[in-house]
Amino acid sequence: MSIVKGDVEEIVRLLNKALADEWLAYYQYWIGAKVVRGVMKNEAVAELTEHAADELRHADMLVERIMQLGGDPILDPKQWYDLTNCGYEVPNDYAVQKIVEQNIKGEQCAIGVYTKLLDFTKEKDEITYQIVLEILKDEVEHEDDLQALMEDLAEKI
Ligand code: FE
Ligand code: FE
Ligand code: MG
Repeated sequence: MSIVKGDVEEIVRLLNKALADEWLAYYQYWIGAKVVRGVMKNEAVAELTEHAADELRHADMLVERIMQLGGDPILDPKQWYDLTNCGYEVPNDYAVQKIVEQNIKGEQCAIGVYTKLLDFTKEKDEITYQIVLEILKDEVEHEDDLQALMEDLAEKI
């Protein structure tokens, strides 16, 4: 299977947009774990910290693939805001519920982004397809974990 040049450029462009999302998601979780407070704080910190590590790993997977395709990964963090699909929600409110809600929104957006990327690479670029599928599985698990945390929280407040 060979992919045409135009497709490679578009795939690299989409992977870089996802890379911007992953870095912002990483920071969102990482800083969220630092500032979060309230009921079930410890459980939230554990989950947010775990997810932060996953997002950083996703960023790594995306850069590896971008470079395999001969593309250049984002080199300047200023581009994160220009390229992001899902944006960044400033965690001004430190309450567990608010932080987790923001992260759920982020995961739902990420699931949409990777679902589209899966469609785009299907039967076109099998390797990128597999990488995206692996990331998508994690994002689905992330959202599920956060929803479970919200349910536990609802029982306690
Ligand atoms: Fe991710
Ligand atoms: Fe995630
Ligand atoms: Mg988890």
